[in-house]
Amino acid sequence: MSDEFSQNPEDETDENVPTISCSRCGREWDLSYELDDLQVGNQSAEQFALDHMRHTGHFPDSVTPWVARCRQCPDGDEFLTERPAQRWAEIHARHTRHTVALTHNDEQTTVDPE
Ligand SMILES: [Zn+2]
Ligand SMILES: [Zn+2]
Repeated sequence: MSDEFSQNPEDETDENVPTISCSRCGREWDLSYELDDLQVGNQSAEQFALDHMRHTGHFPDSVTPWVARCRQCPDGDEFLTERPAQRWAEIHARHTRHTVALTHNDEQTTVDPE
């Protein structure tokens, strides 16, 4: 949030280039071009993670997603932040009367239908 990428691209050293790796893909990306394009700092990593999820179905290594997984049907989704995951769980529980498990790191909570 606080870092400002004020240096111009020619001055960049490797340490200043944020990289994201994905062990499932066996690849690593540097985000310098995205920083240049978007000027959004850390958000470029978030955007990358969301794009990666959209195209591959999983998040890269640096991301610990919030996973909403229904316990009673195959429905579920992964989210970058808690709020949309919580919301997905609540909506699913309300409409299907299913219990949804919400997992982040090793913590798990459940959302029960009313
Ligand atoms: Zn991947
Ligand atoms: Zn369900």
